[in-house]
Amino acid sequence: MEKQELLYEGKAKKVYATQDPHLLIVSYKDDATAFNGLKKGTIQGKGAINNQMSNLLMARLEKEGIPTHLVEELNSRETLVKKVSIVPLEVIVRNIAAGSFSKRYGVEEGMVFDAPTLEFSYKNDSLGDPLLNDDHALALGLASREELTLIRTYALAVNRLLQETWRVCGITLVDFKVEFGRLEDGTIVLADEISPDTCRLWDASTQEKLDKDRFRRDLGGVEEAYIQVMERLTRGL
Ligand code: ADP
Ligand code: UDP
Repeated sequence: MEKQELLYEGKAKKVYATQDPHLLIVSYKDDATAFNGLKKGTIQGKGAINNQMSNLLMARLEKEGIPTHLVEELNSRETLVKKVSIVPLEVIVRNIAAGSFSKRYGVEEGMVFDAPTLEFSYKNDSLGDPLLNDDHALALGLASREELTLIRTYALAVNRLLQETWRVCGITLVDFKVEFGRLEDGTIVLADEISPDTCRLWDASTQEKLDKDRFRRDLGGVEEAYIQVMERLTRGL
C-alpha cells in the first residue's frame, strides 16, 4: 500500500489517502506541541517511537477484545490504519490526579483515586477542547447514548489493560487520552495513538515523569524519557 494525497496534517501526524478508500496511512512526526499549539518544538526520534509503541499497545488491546484501527506497521514511522470518522471527543481516563485535573479542582498531583475517573473533552482546537458531560455530547450530536456507553466501557477496559502492561514495565499509568471513530458500518473502534504524547507515565519507584510533561514543563531529558519508555515496553512485553 502506498501513500497518495495528503489529507490532513495535524500537530503530531500526517494522514494520507491510499488506493483503498477504507484505508489510510498515518505518518508520525517528531514535532511536539503543547498548550493547544502555543508551545512548539521537536522531540528527536519521537515519531518512530510513538508509531511503534502505539502499534504494540493497540495490537495487545485488539488481542484482548478491543477493536482498533490498526492494520499494519509499514515502516518505523508509518502505519496503515482503517479509515474512521473520528468521534470528536477526547476520552480521558485518570488513575492519579495530574495536569488539568489538579489545576481545575485544586488538588495536588499524585493523589491516587479509589477508582478510575473518565471525562470527555470536546475535540475542538478553536474552543480549546472544553470539558463536557454526556448530556452536552448528546445535545451537540457528537455521539449517541449507545455510543457513549460503549466508548466508556472500552475506555475503562483500555485503562485496565494498559495499567497492567505498564505495571510489568515498572511504570505507573497516571492518565491518558484516547479517541474513537466509526467505521463505515458504524462500528466503534479505538483510533489515533497511544504514546508518551497521550499518556502520563511515571516511574513506579521514583515517580519520575517519563512522558510529554518533560517537554511541557521544560524538565529536560525528553528524548531520553521516550527512549527509556520504549525500551521498558519492549522488554516487558
Ligand atoms: P491533531 O489533529 O490534534 O493535531 P494529529 O497530528 O495526531 O492530531 O493528527 C492526526 C489526526 O488524525 C487527528 O485529528 C486524529 O483524530 C485523526 N485520526 C486518527 N486516527 C484516524 C483514523 N483511523 N481515521 C481517520 N482519522 C484518524
Ligand atoms: N491529552 C492528550 N491530548 C490533549 C489533552 C490531553 O493526549 O489534547 C492527554 C495528556 O497527555 C494526559 C491526559 O490526556 O495524559 C490528561 O491530560 P490533562 O487533561 O491533564 O491536560 P494537560 O495537563 O495535558 O493540559
